[in-house]
Amino acid sequence: MHPETLAVHSGHTVDSATGAVAPPIYLSTTFERDADGSYPRKYEYIRDNNPNRHQLEDCLAALEGGIGAAAFASGLASITNLLQTLRPGDHVIAPLDAYFGTAHILKDMYEPWGLEVSFVEMTDLNKVEAAVRPNTKLIWTETPSNPLVAITDLEAVAQIAHRAGAKAGCDNTWATPFGQRPFDFGFDIVMHSTTKYLGGHGDVMGGAIVVREDGALLNKLHQLQNVGGAIPSPFDCWLILRGISTLPYRIRAHTYNAEKLAAFLSQHPAIEVVHYPGLVSHINHAVAARQMKLFGGMLSIQVKGNRETTFRVAARLRLFIRATSLGGPASLIEHRESIEGPDTRAPENLLRISVGLEHPDDLIADLEQALEGV
Ligand SMILES: *Cc1c(COP(=O)(O)O)cnc(C)c1O
Repeated sequence: MHPETLAVHSGHTVDSATGAVAPPIYLSTTFERDADGSYPRKYEYIRDNNPNRHQLEDCLAALEGGIGAAAFASGLASITNLLQTLRPGDHVIAPLDAYFGTAHILKDMYEPWGLEVSFVEMTDLNKVEAAVRPNTKLIWTETPSNPLVAITDLEAVAQIAHRAGAKAGCDNTWATPFGQRPFDFGFDIVMHSTTKYLGGHGDVMGGAIVVREDGALLNKLHQLQNVGGAIPSPFDCWLILRGISTLPYRIRAHTYNAEKLAAFLSQHPAIEVVHYPGLVSHINHAVAARQMKLFGGMLSIQVKGNRETTFRVAARLRLFIRATSLGGPASLIEHRESIEGPDTRAPENLLRISVGLEHPDDLIADLEQALEGV
């Protein structure tokens, strides 16, 4: 089945008790046992499982093409729980430009716990290969990356991981399952911050790990949901499932708008460089064209000038909202260097843009007036 159809129907079934077409929200924390003590309807206690979470997990697994998924309370909770499936003494290779929350988990929580971590330039395959150790268990990627929108070659990284006897995992938050399917390139694990495009309206937090074929890993993650308890609420799952049903069309509009903005900005005399994988001038455009079905709604610009000039541009904008996060209907703009703290790799003249669903001409007019005379 095509992704649009899966987005509408996977995980959705007409409620057998009432005929409700939109899924009911099951707030019950506990579920009835049969007289013989069994749980014939498979639900027992909300931390263990819940119909809304179950529906969301089925839908995510279908969209990415995996055997199953485990939903968590946030994107970072899903990474934390995935790393919990490793052992002290295991080695993880992660990108130098990993989402800074991911880098913090690895450095501040898991290195003290005993995980060995190497941060490498993921777009340089020789460096990835050179970082492999006998105890490497996971190569973690994020493509497009934050905030420079760099593209990692998924097929090549999966091959390096498998030669090393390690798993390949991809944070697919920015691309969404409709823009890129890492499993098609041999990846073993996909992660989403469902807070972003999947929820899609800037009003719900969640995360998930999708597993391609390792049933033991999936079981461990479901166990960790129950034991650790970092699970999403039924309403959160319901909102994310609702968001997913329109995402194939939303992501096309985000991409259409981003392509228009990228074309406009790359011609503008006040802009030093536009980072967008859909531009032929993008350093990894060929790799992006090979592995992405849509180039997505995220781009970064570097303004000609310093930090002050860059702040002035963001301050002059009227439609773009100065706020963190991404993937919602409203366009957001963010100065990453000042939010990431001292170990940031973001240039001081960089603004990251989550291109929203407004009309592209209105967005371009807003950028035009904000950049005038800069
Ligand atoms: C937002 C984000 C995360 C973290 O997800 P939360 O839901 O905020 O915990 C991880 N990776 C990427 C790429 C993100 O954009």
